[in-house]
Amino acid sequence: MRKKARRLLSLGISLTLLLAVLAACGTGASGGGDEERQQGADPAPAAKAGTLETIKQRGKLVAGVKFDTKLFGLKDPGSGQVEGFDIDIAKKLAGRILGDESNIELKEVTSKTRIPMLDNGEIDIIIATMTINEERKQQVDFSDVYFKAGQSLLVKKGSPIKSIADLTKGTKVLAVKGSTSAVNIREKAKETTVLEFENYQDAFTALKAGQGDALTTDNAILYGMQQQDPAFEVVGGTFTDEPYGMAIRKGDAEFVSYVNDFLKELKDSGEYDKIYEKWIGEKPAD
Ligand code: GLU
Repeated sequence: MRKKARRLLSLGISLTLLLAVLAACGTGASGGGDEERQQGADPAPAAKAGTLETIKQRGKLVAGVKFDTKLFGLKDPGSGQVEGFDIDIAKKLAGRILGDESNIELKEVTSKTRIPMLDNGEIDIIIATMTINEERKQQVDFSDVYFKAGQSLLVKKGSPIKSIADLTKGTKVLAVKGSTSAVNIREKAKETTVLEFENYQDAFTALKAGQGDALTTDNAILYGMQQQDPAFEVVGGTFTDEPYGMAIRKGDAEFVSYVNDFLKELKDSGEYDKIYEKWIGEKPAD
């Protein structure tokens, strides 16, 4: 009898332990472990801070920039040089952090790949014609505005399309995946068909090949295309505001404020205006 009682008791203890273990495992899914879930869901802020230190230790700034966007970031296939407004800003940032503008690696991003590449640590910062908006603020942190653009249309000279109002049923508009332009145009010209491409060169090639009636993105980018091929022109004014910001991994407040200080210095010293005039022309009054 005593033996049996002992066996029952130890069975009882084992069962209790088993239940305790099961309960602990289930906490995350059962709704009782809010604190645990929050920590588990977003370890990013603490883990991803320290970009500035990483750059200094590496001795090189890795900037995500466009390679296909004349005036902002365009790679010359002959020389291999990447040039533009965003590139000059990126070089100045490398100079401020590391004392030498040439301590920089320029990595190509597209509108679609830039946030994932920042997230997985392939780049330290995005400086790539990127509009600051609420949706993106959920995924990245932004610097202060460093350029102001607005969405517009590029068409073949003589096209019957003169503004967004002409994008009626039966028209086709070309845009780039992951851009605000692709989202906005669907909202603002509901009847038109939108075709999306991987990058701006592909979209422009498609426009030249007659695959669409217009190409839509920021006016500043379209002016670059108009320079590349004067058979095309920007029409219809702007129909959105596209304030550009440099994007930084979420939770790295130190790097955000460093970049904002850098931007302020660049403006105060007159360097910003020089870069602006070099690529864009005279700066409009704010
Ligand atoms: N500024 C717009 C955006 O961030 C269009 C330019 C781009 O695709 O980078 O989406």
